[in-house]
Amino acid sequence: MNLLEVRELTTAFSARDGRTLRALNEVSFDLAEGEVLGIVGESGCGKSTLAKSVLRLIQSEQGSVCFHGQDVLQMNKAQLKRARRSMQIVFQDPFGSLNPRHTIGQIIREPLQVHGIGSTRDQQRRVDELLERVGLSADVQTRHAHEFSGGQRQRIAIARALALQPELLVADEAVSALDVSVQSQIINLITDLQAELGLSMLFISHDLSVIRHVSDRIAVMYLGRIVEIGEADALMNDPQHPYTRALISAIPSLAAQQAVRIVLHGELPDPSDPPEGCAFHTRCPQVHDECLRRRPELRAVVRDTLSIHSQAAHSSACHLNESTP
Ligand code: SF4
Repeated sequence: MNLLEVRELTTAFSARDGRTLRALNEVSFDLAEGEVLGIVGESGCGKSTLAKSVLRLIQSEQGSVCFHGQDVLQMNKAQLKRARRSMQIVFQDPFGSLNPRHTIGQIIREPLQVHGIGSTRDQQRRVDELLERVGLSADVQTRHAHEFSGGQRQRIAIARALALQPELLVADEAVSALDVSVQSQIINLITDLQAELGLSMLFISHDLSVIRHVSDRIAVMYLGRIVEIGEADALMNDPQHPYTRALISAIPSLAAQQAVRIVLHGELPDPSDPPEGCAFHTRCPQVHDECLRRRPELRAVVRDTLSIHSQAAHSSACHLNESTP
């Protein structure tokens, strides 16, 4: 059963010089109940725009985001407020996302107050429970965010996101600003909570080595589009898109298994002036004439070794895959 069905989602911004920057371009995917979809790609590929567009924190140009079958983009104010109870986000920057003037107790209690949930005593009990669940003691709630480390602040942000018992949690680069040792603690906390609470998650990161540990499926983004999506094991063990292969070959623990390290040259092209044809052609080690002329569509990967289900679940946007029998 799908909790979320995103279709042809397109989000654009006006650049300073008046050009239109399509940060997100016809992005479609499903998210099943209790599933974790990892979304990976370089900085500027549209991952965070996707997170904000799905939650309607920014306005999209076209497409639909159906949550329990109802299009979030068409909801009125009251419907959106109700839906937001079930859709929460943890941002990258734990330093900037917590109000410095409020105590930790006020920060975690705020969503309950905004939505009028429970008596004062119920809300206090819930704050105590949430702090304990994220590994902090209840007596921290009289303190302020600046008194905590980055990892502790992210625990507080997670507690606040869980206050309303959401069904969907979006983690937008939630561990990127943390030290490596703290990263793994927060990743473990998030995966434990996801399993315990049966949360559906969009886990967004530029780091594929992080994504592969938490995701059931992985979507790889490049310049505002999904270029490969599939079950995590299938995508990591048998990547079809040259960009995915390059990302995998850059993971130090996997590099030794790769015959060659694929080094991408050049930067991500300007999204307000994307290359013709395949947007990856300016950096692709396997580029050929067709790539400059025609943009490849996302198509199911067809392989003899894959079951029908896996073929349907694994898709790639590359002309090389179109010639696969
Ligand atoms: Fe590379 Fe061409 Fe495939 Fe694009 S379509 S990823 S340029 S081989």
